[in-house]
Amino acid sequence: MAGSVGQVSLPPVELAEFPILAQRVHGNRLAYLDNAATTQKPRSVIESMTHYYEHDNANVHRGVHLLSQRATDAFDAARVKLAQFIGAQNPNSVLWTKGCTEAINLVAQTWGLANLGPDKRILLSAMEHHANIVPWQMVAERTGVTITPIPVSDEGVLDIDWLRANLDETVALVGVKQICNALGTVNPIGEIATMAHAVGALILVDGAQALAHAPANVVADDLDFYAMSAHKAYGPTGVGALYVRPEILRDLAPYQGGGDMIRTVSWEGTTYNDPPNRFEAGTPNIAGVIGFGAALDFLTRIGIDRIHLHEESLLEYGTSALSAVPGLTLRGTAPCKAAILSFTLDGIHPHDLGTLLDGHGVAIRSGHHCCMPLMKRLGVPATARASLAVYNTQQDIDQLVFALHEAKRVFA
Ligand code: PMP
Repeated sequence: MAGSVGQVSLPPVELAEFPILAQRVHGNRLAYLDNAATTQKPRSVIESMTHYYEHDNANVHRGVHLLSQRATDAFDAARVKLAQFIGAQNPNSVLWTKGCTEAINLVAQTWGLANLGPDKRILLSAMEHHANIVPWQMVAERTGVTITPIPVSDEGVLDIDWLRANLDETVALVGVKQICNALGTVNPIGEIATMAHAVGALILVDGAQALAHAPANVVADDLDFYAMSAHKAYGPTGVGALYVRPEILRDLAPYQGGGDMIRTVSWEGTTYNDPPNRFEAGTPNIAGVIGFGAALDFLTRIGIDRIHLHEESLLEYGTSALSAVPGLTLRGTAPCKAAILSFTLDGIHPHDLGTLLDGHGVAIRSGHHCCMPLMKRLGVPATARASLAVYNTQQDIDQLVFALHEAKRVFA
């Protein structure tokens, strides 16, 4: 269980809590190192969803019968849990979405279309995920707003001086990811928020990679929009959330039309419900939201501080282990970094490497990580990426390093 033995940091969870990890892959123990793509799910999350389907399955908010009330209670409780988890004072400032991607699209299609025009600029970090680039390009096509990337250094550090020099009252929005899924860089979101607000701009933070490792406090960090995905935080796929600062949310026009988001409908016109319902048209992903709530319970039970300590120790161990592999170049060496190890290996394309490592039971990701502009900036077509989570061990990293040496032998 929890704690350190000498220099060895043990996961602060029982690995048996994650049934999937017990399997063998191509005859080897599974070293699952693709957590930035999606994390594995603890039994408590899986069981919360099974329990809902076996006992409480009913639609929310519309039924007076017992099952619907139980489903609604569990659904609403998850919203309170998420609000508490990210420091939001009002649970109604948290909107359920399909995930981080939909959360950002919601901001773009509502706030963006209403507030942007040819006289405005959006500054997006040059390390953004496509999910925080393309929705804005779609809005730019319709509004004429200009999008400018905030430069990133060779090490993967955001150029804060450039940002300071380029912020003025024409900037309507600064968009930045809290933790870079491709490189691990942790961005100073609180500092960026202060700088953005000083010129009247808003800040949107993509928290997809941060929720399970170092979640924002939306009040202390003074964020306007915070986008999240449950599946990167031990929850299910197909559900996520968007926090919107209450003063902004109050006046935000609806996103999609349909059931639940209205107050009255007639042929003469429709009046809209209050947030959060105004933004949650149709039957939501009820089981997913309940599973998300269980994932937040899991994270709270283990404690973000313990998770952070363990992952930090693995990052240190992994950085020195990978640095010792001849021909390996770590991509992304920011001083403030989360437990993501992106790298290239001389003479082996990351895609070939991914396949070879899989043969040894090591699951990593190779590709552009949905950050094509960042890859171009770094001058690489792709990287191989090992991303760590609470259940990973030094043994996983040793297995990765062993498999890398084997891959080098194949390509020698
Ligand atoms: N932003 C970042 C930083 C991500 O890592 C991801 C997922 N790779 C996303 C956004 C999109 O998340 P989702 O696909 O769950 O909507």
